[in-house]
Amino acid sequence: MEYDKNNIFARIIRGEIPCKKIYEDESVLAIEDVAPAAPTHALIMPKGDYVSFDDFTRNTTPETVAYFFTTIATIARILKLETSGYRLITNHGKDASQSVPHFHVHLLGGRALGGLLPGDLHAR
Ligand code: AMP
Repeated sequence: MEYDKNNIFARIIRGEIPCKKIYEDESVLAIEDVAPAAPTHALIMPKGDYVSFDDFTRNTTPETVAYFFTTIATIARILKLETSGYRLITNHGKDASQSVPHFHVHLLGGRALGGLLPGDLHAR
């Protein structure tokens, strides 16, 4: 899938659309999700033009992947979730209902999050 330079997160990264910023450095941006699914719901994205997790891991360096995931952990600590816990989710493609075609990771926390998937057998 070709990267759409006008997807909503590309426009947020370029500063064309406002966002509630949580963290930013040269290569990573974290913002609040506009429709939070938990008391804390951050969206963490590399600034580079990657459609999804698959595109990111295929087309960047292992160092960039490592930096990105290390930064997610830093952001979780900034949000003070490392003790209570949190969940990371990334949706790649149709079956996962990815709705914005710019790679991002959801960071969710602030309450007990229940089972892995809605209605799943392991729901607590
Ligand atoms: P996904 O379905 O994994 O692609 O997730 C996209 C997420 O982006 C959803 O949770 C939306 O609520 C969120 N979202 C869409 N537009 C915006 C926006 N302008 N600012 C913040 N979050 C957004």
